[in-house]
Amino acid sequence: MSETRKPRAVEEGDLIARVRAAARQEQFLEVVSPEEARARFERHLDLAPLPGETVTLADARTRALCGDVIAPVDAPPFDRSNVDGFALRAADTVGASEGNPKIFVLNAEVIACGHVPALTVMPGTCTAIATGGVIPRGADAVVMIEQTELIEEGHPRVELRRAVSPGQFVSHAGSDIARGETLLRRGTRIGAREIGMLAACGLDRIEVVRRPRVAVISTGDELVEPGRPLRPAGVYDSNGAIIAAAVAEAGGEPILYGSLRDDAAVLEKTVREALAASDMVVLSGGTSKGAGDLSHRVVSQLGKPGILVHGVALKPGKPLCLSVVGDKPIVVLPGFPTSAIFTFHAFAAPIIRARAGLPPESAETINARVPVRITSELGRKEFVLVSLIEGDQGTIAFPTGKGSGAVTSFSQADGFIEIDALASALNADSDAQVTLIGSSARAPDLVIMGSHDVALDVIVGALVEQGLSARVLAVGSLGGVGAIGRGECDVAPVHLIDPASGQYNKHLVGTGMSLVAGWRRMQGILFRPGDARFEGHSAKEALKIVLEDSSALMVNRNAGAGTRVLTDKLLDGARPAGYANQPKSHNAVAAAIAQGRADWGIAIEPVAKLYGLGFLPVSPEHYDFLVADSRRERPGVQAFLAALRDERVRARVRALGMEPES
Ligand code: AMP
Ligand code: MG
Repeated sequence: MSETRKPRAVEEGDLIARVRAAARQEQFLEVVSPEEARARFERHLDLAPLPGETVTLADARTRALCGDVIAPVDAPPFDRSNVDGFALRAADTVGASEGNPKIFVLNAEVIACGHVPALTVMPGTCTAIATGGVIPRGADAVVMIEQTELIEEGHPRVELRRAVSPGQFVSHAGSDIARGETLLRRGTRIGAREIGMLAACGLDRIEVVRRPRVAVISTGDELVEPGRPLRPAGVYDSNGAIIAAAVAEAGGEPILYGSLRDDAAVLEKTVREALAASDMVVLSGGTSKGAGDLSHRVVSQLGKPGILVHGVALKPGKPLCLSVVGDKPIVVLPGFPTSAIFTFHAFAAPIIRARAGLPPESAETINARVPVRITSELGRKEFVLVSLIEGDQGTIAFPTGKGSGAVTSFSQADGFIEIDALASALNADSDAQVTLIGSSARAPDLVIMGSHDVALDVIVGALVEQGLSARVLAVGSLGGVGAIGRGECDVAPVHLIDPASGQYNKHLVGTGMSLVAGWRRMQGILFRPGDARFEGHSAKEALKIVLEDSSALMVNRNAGAGTRVLTDKLLDGARPAGYANQPKSHNAVAAAIAQGRADWGIAIEPVAKLYGLGFLPVSPEHYDFLVADSRRERPGVQAFLAALRDERVRARVRALGMEPES
């Protein structure tokens, strides 16, 4: 997959055929419900745990126990002292008090750890013993050294001024682990605690379920292995890595095949090899419209029973394909990363867990309010990823989806809600049940919702260094204004100009919030270095040139963006080519110019630097923070405000090309 692909033109006859293939409608055998899909698949599969294998304790971590473990020994193995003191007979202490101390003759032995006691404790005597020492024969209690007085004249004796009961400061043999008890149960996933228990019983090896070997294969001409330079039109193969990691988390052993070209012969050869070498094959990509259904075609030729499901009424994840060859499952996941990982968890992970001997993952759910309306396609069960936020009136679930092509949606979400196949929307302010993803969902110390900026990451980084957690949701300036007004966040970063006054952000301040100054970001015209229409000119001159040059293509910004307001002001009614191209971020503008999809656009200076573009300054914009008054005293908010004033943090912000406000 390392050969370089030169752009090439398509022969004319070929072109029509290719366009037809690319525009082909999705051809699924039959779209079935997720429940039906799972039932059909599992009917052909053996879901019993794989046979066991014996491994050392060091290798046992994360594995599932094959059978119950019966404790072969007691722990502690003997009656043991819990303190430093003297072992004696409790009966001899009866009646001891301040006014009536009892005297014990000290036996000629000191019981340290690992020492086998030689002398019996006779009535009226005691033996010095260390924490962890073996209780000597005859003794049934230990008194702490602090509660005694040593009499050194004559034969050494010990004076005691209080009575003790039998068993005081003694841990009896088997009180921790009793020989013959069931120490660990079959199917338990072994972690540090379990390893400790096994070692305490003297076990150095243990029988665990063999891990199912799962072949992970990515397909797509566009895929580039992480670690290599990205070529034009290339996309990093993220599915391979995330699926392999998810296989391991589900108890399987991933076998990585990397990414393959969209070539039926290559794919077939590799899948056949993978089938022979593993217990299960997981492919991603090559299933959706336009891909020519490559994976599906190849998988359908591999043997019986063959493809059981192709098309599931599920969003994301419709193009999923489930197949079985012999007794080995083949799962073809959709290529888009969010779809791929969702369908992996829904259809592949349960099988891996079952074969690995692990119990089904228990889905923890909580109730939350969904503040915004979410539309949904009729006829498909839809999963919507959400972030959880502690609002003024209980937990809020905020949809975070960036579309099924996003890699970060799944990783950054706290959970998901399900929208029934028969519903066309979930109304704003509905109550919903959220299935949590991962177990460590904890409310963050600080919730920031609004416009994102790279220097904001510096502030958040400073909080993280202090052990605080912050959740940042990039919902745009206007989204942030709405969220803070509804009590959904602590801080809303904004940068909107008031067209009436020309001032930034002041007009956004509502009741119960205040404006805290952030930093200025220089906005200007971005262009590819060397472009004579811009190089060496002022922004004003360059603008005049491109407005008269019909071949100059601009890239605009979305309505509502502060930069768009500036752009419209500069254009003063002109509508140059490319005006309708309105991406939502500075980065998207820079990428379009860097890749030659546009020639110029307006964005901030740090982004121009990041993409190696030329920059003609126009005017600064102010990036400030709306802070909720009712939450200002919270530690997270206080730390945020302190970080804004911290000189070291400000220096880092400056290094990114922003000018902190004084
Ligand atoms: P496909 O199912 O092959 O048509 O792919 C659908 C989309 O998912 C395309 O945008 C692909 O670039 C993307 N995609 C497919 N495989 C991967 C992968 N392994 N890693 C990241 N993106 C992928
Ligand atoms: Mg593909």
